Amino acid sequence: MAQEGGSEEEDGDRTPRVVIIGGGFGGLNAAKKLRRAKADVYLIDRENFHLFQPLLYQVATAGLGAEDIASPIRAVLRRQKNAKVVKGEVYEIDRQAREVRFDRGVLSYDYLIVAAGVQNNYFGNEEWKALAPGLKTMGDALECRRRILEVFERAEWTDDEELSESLLTFVIVGAGPTGVEMAGAIREIAHKVMIREFRNIDSSKARVVLVDAGPKALAAYTDETSQRAKRDLEDMGVEVLLDSMVDEITAEGVRIGDGFIASHTVIWAAGVEASPLGQSLDTELDRMGRVVVDDTLNVPGDDRVFVIGDQARFDSEDGEALPGLAPVAIQQGKHVAKNIRNRLRDKPYRSFSYTDRGQMATLGRARAVAEVGSQKFFGFFAWVLWLFIHLLFLIGFRNRLFVLLEWFYAYVGMKRSARLILDTPESYRQAVRTERRLLEQKEEAATLDVLGESADEVAESPPDQAKRSSP
Ligand SMILES: Cc1cc2nc3c(=O)[nH]c(=O)nc-3n(C[C@H](O)[C@H](O)[C@H](O)COP(=O)(O)OP(=O)(O)OC[C@H]3O[C@@H](n4cnc5c(N)ncnc54)[C@H](O)[C@@H]3O)c2cc1C
Repeated sequence: MAQEGGSEEEDGDRTPRVVIIGGGFGGLNAAKKLRRAKADVYLIDRENFHLFQPLLYQVATAGLGAEDIASPIRAVLRRQKNAKVVKGEVYEIDRQAREVRFDRGVLSYDYLIVAAGVQNNYFGNEEWKALAPGLKTMGDALECRRRILEVFERAEWTDDEELSESLLTFVIVGAGPTGVEMAGAIREIAHKVMIREFRNIDSSKARVVLVDAGPKALAAYTDETSQRAKRDLEDMGVEVLLDSMVDEITAEGVRIGDGFIASHTVIWAAGVEASPLGQSLDTELDRMGRVVVDDTLNVPGDDRVFVIGDQARFDSEDGEALPGLAPVAIQQGKHVAKNIRNRLRDKPYRSFSYTDRGQMATLGRARAVAEVGSQKFFGFFAWVLWLFIHLLFLIGFRNRLFVLLEWFYAYVGMKRSARLILDTPESYRQAVRTERRLLEQKEEAATLDVLGESADEVAESPPDQAKRSSP
């Protein structure tokens, strides 16, 4: 499809067209809510699936498989006759022409809902991207999983103490909900699951370090919850380093001030920024690149364009920006769909207001922290609460009870099939070759030291003179 439709007004014969960018929590809920609207609904997403992001960390740590937390958008909307799904990456929105341009064509719109979410933000250190994957997309989660599984394989096949320790050291940068969840899950997989299947790994060497530049873990929570989360993580064996700014990330580890943590697995959970698509709307953006919207979630002055979810900056009555949470995106998606239906029936738009149902984060398999209004819940009860509430967010999964049971089984039993290393990139092979050469040089240097020769000469010696390092 090169181009669908011109930029006609909906007052002609043509059915009005609503284009939605993004099939996440916001976009998909908007599409579903428009099912009875007299409109053609186009949902464009660069992926062909809706992703249940709250469980991404489970895929990243091989607790669940990719298919457990994603659902094809076409399947979700299969019964909705007025909905068409387009797989494509939008790169520009032209509000003058009322067009959306994407990699495979152009779509005109009468109403546009922008719900493209956020992406990882490395705060200008773009070279860290390759060294420390974030956790925002399925691709990110699979890359984290591959790296985590690979270091166990490498640690199994070395008798070099120093190398083994650095291979089994995991650094997570950013102690927000994603960082906290990743830290707890990696600690559990390292100490409780992998250890049983490997013969030479010393579980006491598996270190998980959670680093944050700020003074609190879970900064958006109350002090009590934040301290409780830190204590629970420390009880589980996670090292929590607060007020610690990461100055450098290299292939060998992380530098924090004068200290260096040797690690081959660094995960970035320190920040996000809104989708760059907001820039083409030519309107006010906040510091995170979110589009500042008005009380009806419109771009100010443009009642045909809405921005919702993580990509929108909407201040609640107390003047605070709404957080990047699934319920915010869901409620906003439904709200704009209702407003469009109102407009199509010549009724006015209504202002959006958010119903806050609280926030929660898991700390491993059976612990969580939760804040619901002024109530705070910790431990196992909070975890059960987390499980049930997240189930309510599920979109398009067959049967919620069935999925719950399936998850529960996979979650408690650690789904074995999720521990497959499916794709080994050349960069990994290169790292293994380098690691082997360094070890060979180290061994050669040690031997020559005993013989009283200079280590400098060793550095220049060809690698094939040394023997393989093995347990
Ligand atoms: C690891 C993690 C854990 C989380 N845990 C929780 C939690 O426990 N509870 C909670 O409430 N919230 C949680 N969140 C936040 C929650 O997932 C988000 O607030 C929510 O997904 C926002 O919905 P959205 O529709 O705005 O964006 P998203 O769900 O991010 O959807 C954006 C969609 O847009 C698509 N897209 C992006 N750019 C383009 C483009 N240019 N062209 C076409 N398509 C595009 C993407 O593929 C994606 O499908 C978590 C987030 C992460 C990353």
